[in-house]
Amino acid sequence: MSESSPKPIVLDRDGVINEDLWGYVTKKEEFKPIEGSLLAIKKLTDSGFNVVIATNQACISKKIINEKQLQAVHDHMSLLVQEAGGKIDHVAFCPHAPEEKCSCRKPETGLLNEIEETLGCSLKNSFFIGDKESDVLCAINYGCIPLLVKTGYGERSLSSKHCPPEERCFNNLLDAVHYVLEA
Ligand SMILES: [Mg+2]
Ligand SMILES: [Zn+2]
Repeated sequence: MSESSPKPIVLDRDGVINEDLWGYVTKKEEFKPIEGSLLAIKKLTDSGFNVVIATNQACISKKIINEKQLQAVHDHMSLLVQEAGGKIDHVAFCPHAPEEKCSCRKPETGLLNEIEETLGCSLKNSFFIGDKESDVLCAINYGCIPLLVKTGYGERSLSSKHCPPEERCFNNLLDAVHYVLEA
């Protein structure tokens, strides 16, 4: 691998980077970073990772917010990350509701296709950090390495069928990133 080839890592958003509100983040004031998550992204950036987000946002389909409002939330997230010294390379989101049966709502893998096209690299064997079984399944379906965080829905996901082994379950994003950086 050459020095310049992208080193992608996929993160879920809600419950991983920001507090899951058990609803939707509709405006920037509702985007509350989980302790250590901004530092975790900075550490990834410093280590040469391309940080990309894959997030289900059915709030678009449900018309709770529109794409412009979602973009404003993501601009705010990127700004917070930037202020902490990190960088988010791309945010891929699924705007559909489950009943639309699209090919991008996790655990489907369309968002990962989008990320590969955007970065121009493969996500096979990349780490994928999430808090739900749908994240884990999406990762497995695509040949990524799933890591689970116990923030957000994570504690509940520990009892799910596809939960990663204990050594790949972490208290939060910062702990998961420390594992990634030592891998
Ligand atoms: Mg989540
Ligand atoms: Zn979709």
